[in-house]
Amino acid sequence: MKFNKQSYQRIIATLHDGLYFVDRDRQISYWNRSAEKISGFMADEVVGRHCSDNILTHMDGEGNCLCLDRCPLAFTMEDGQPREAVVYMHHRDGHRVPVSVRTSALTDENGVIVGGVELFTDISGLGANELRVQELEKLALLDNLTRLANRHYLERELQSHFEEKKRLAASFGVLFMDIDWFKKFNDTYGHDVGDEVLKFVANTLITNSRPFDLYGRWGGEEFIGIIRNCTTAELEVIGNRVRLLIEHAYLIHQGQELRVTVSMGATLFRDGDNMETLIKRADTLMYESKREGRNRLTIR
Ligand code: GH3
Ligand code: MG
Ligand code: MG
Repeated sequence: MKFNKQSYQRIIATLHDGLYFVDRDRQISYWNRSAEKISGFMADEVVGRHCSDNILTHMDGEGNCLCLDRCPLAFTMEDGQPREAVVYMHHRDGHRVPVSVRTSALTDENGVIVGGVELFTDISGLGANELRVQELEKLALLDNLTRLANRHYLERELQSHFEEKKRLAASFGVLFMDIDWFKKFNDTYGHDVGDEVLKFVANTLITNSRPFDLYGRWGGEEFIGIIRNCTTAELEVIGNRVRLLIEHAYLIHQGQELRVTVSMGATLFRDGDNMETLIKRADTLMYESKREGRNRLTIR
């Protein structure tokens, strides 16, 4: 059986995975439809550009930028070996999307490497979130701006966790976060741009949450995560990952990269806690992070 070129092109264009080709200089030469869907960038915005030009800027779970000297695709183009990795891709809206990437080398008829291919799969579980969002919308439990759970829903959820805790003794913790210097941000760039930031922070939380965790908007620029079945050490890892993902998210505004950071307080449920004492402790720890210099997590 022999396929013609059009068949290949059709298959590639309609793949469920994102796919792009780069040449030896890592200039993007092809970008399929799923790549558009997952990243928010249209083919005409990326083809002809270098993958590190503010476009994808992959980073790992520790906040390291992979573009300069750790790019899996660049390694593959050096040694011809395919690679797999989980990376966080920059979405056009600002937030970071976790994707599983697979790279391979493109060779000419003499076996000389002439470029590379990256296939990437969205592993954020956003599909499940869509259903959840529809349900919450009906019940008026969604925050209008960010489409996260609103405070009312967070309170309901916490309450049910307290009851469950009594029954199952399952541990859970909360992450309390507050955007740093946000008033100044609004004063500098305007309230509407501030709103865009709140949305990308919210999207970062949604795309990177585990199915059984819940993130919501507590107030103006304050967010809470309810993290189930975790130890203090795990809560710290999750909280720090979220903090780094927000630190490395950015919005392009008039050609400038706009970023924010968050200060966090994290704590596990303790015997004798009620909702007020638990939230108060997380809030106090968040303020400790502010005092210590911001963009950090304090856990106790
Ligand atoms: P800190 O690092 O101490 O948290 O400083 P801050 O400026 O973030 O703290 P402050 O509480 O003084 O300011 C919070 C700001 O958040 C004030 C308000 O302008 C902004 N804010 C609250 N809700 C919204 C909103 O829905 N949209 C926008 N754009 N800004 C909001
Ligand atoms: Mg605040
Ligand atoms: Mg603040």
